[in-house]
Amino acid sequence: MDFNLSPEHAAFQQEVRDFIQNDMPAGWNTADAEDRPDIERQIRFKLAERKWLALAWPKEYGGLAASPMQQMVYNEMMAYNAVPSFSMGVAWVGPVIMLYGTKEQQERFLPRITSGEDVWCTLYSEPGSGSDLASLQARAVRDGDDYVVNGQKIWTSGGHRSDWGWLAVRTDPDVPKHKGISMVCVKMDSPGITVRPLVNMAGTHEFNEVFFEDVRIPVSNLVGEENRGWYSLAVGLDFERSSIGATSTARRMVEQIVGLAKAKPGGLDHGVKGRLVDVAIAVQVMRNMGYKIAAEQERTGIAPNRESQMAKLFGAELNQRIATLGLQVLGMQGQATTSGSVADRLHYNFLRAVANTIEGGTSEIQRNVIATRALGLPRE
Ligand SMILES: Cc1cc2nc3c(=O)[nH]c(=O)nc-3n(C[C@H](O)[C@H](O)[C@H](O)COP(=O)(O)OP(=O)(O)OC[C@H]3O[C@@H](n4cnc5c(N)ncnc54)[C@H](O)[C@@H]3O)c2cc1C
Repeated sequence: MDFNLSPEHAAFQQEVRDFIQNDMPAGWNTADAEDRPDIERQIRFKLAERKWLALAWPKEYGGLAASPMQQMVYNEMMAYNAVPSFSMGVAWVGPVIMLYGTKEQQERFLPRITSGEDVWCTLYSEPGSGSDLASLQARAVRDGDDYVVNGQKIWTSGGHRSDWGWLAVRTDPDVPKHKGISMVCVKMDSPGITVRPLVNMAGTHEFNEVFFEDVRIPVSNLVGEENRGWYSLAVGLDFERSSIGATSTARRMVEQIVGLAKAKPGGLDHGVKGRLVDVAIAVQVMRNMGYKIAAEQERTGIAPNRESQMAKLFGAELNQRIATLGLQVLGMQGQATTSGSVADRLHYNFLRAVANTIEGGTSEIQRNVIATRALGLPRE
């Protein structure tokens, strides 16, 4: 197996590196929380200009039809340099609309995703429905050409900064739970929607509660067939879990911890040294898994489901190990950090990494899926 990049991919990697060095908006990596939304918007438009925002999308929908391997090279460079380039619209809403949306919906929604104009959030989880998502209760009742929606969503990442929501609702309460769900696109400034902030344990406002009170959504915003939304939702989750190239953030973190460890007065505890070696090896294993997924996707056209699940599980738990190790290497220094320092970032990562094994499906659920789909173990 040849792990070297092809000349084309190496040239593209250099192009992305040059872009990050020369074309990013001023202050992009030092902006404080208040200025970050505006900076992220500027970055989005810059990426959209190059058609990099939806690199792998077909050209007819505004992408560059990049191969999974090219996408991997891109994701690695962006993640390594901590460039905020993630978009739910690009990652799963758009791909599902390409598969199940009408021509009119594709023409209406997709160009505004690739141009960076519309930002989407995902409205799946509810206070009583997370892992068992099919039990969701938000209710949509047909009234003429509209649905009238009532209910509550929770943990809606970016809901406070989104133009559109990708909403799962119950359209038929009288059939088995998987069979009465529909997917609709909702404008987030529709009358009757209230978005309330939730602050995470790292102190950042990332997700929200979203309340729906008699919100009218045109039936023309239904994507796919009524009551068959569970199947498009499941396809969307597969896209979500197959995000490749995310290991570079972990690699960067390990490099930073090694830098701190080298500079530590009095040297390092032998056990900590050994664990640093362990995570460095695990990062490489994770990277190889990413390449395997990209290679499979390139060969077959679809992301391999079980490898994607494994990579999500392995990566989420690895992040937590690295974040814990970072704080251990910092020692007492971890208590006193200055804003923007490596120690400050490690401190934040330690608190934020807790969510890695919950968001996008918990590790327990991932293990259940791998047990049945990859190992063929019985469900119960
Ligand atoms: C940072 C972050 C961002 C998020 N962003 C979004 C978003 O944008 N949109 C959105 O809709 N949701 C979002 N979520 C919600 C996320 O998808 C859910 O939190 C997750 O699916 C778990 O659901 P829950 O919180 O209801 O936990 P529960 O499902 O109540 O689970 C509680 C515990 O029980 C375990 N458990 C449950 N069922 C089983 C089982 N069958 N077998 C073994 N163990 C089980 C779980 O693993 C977990 O440990 C986000 C969550 C986080 C942390």
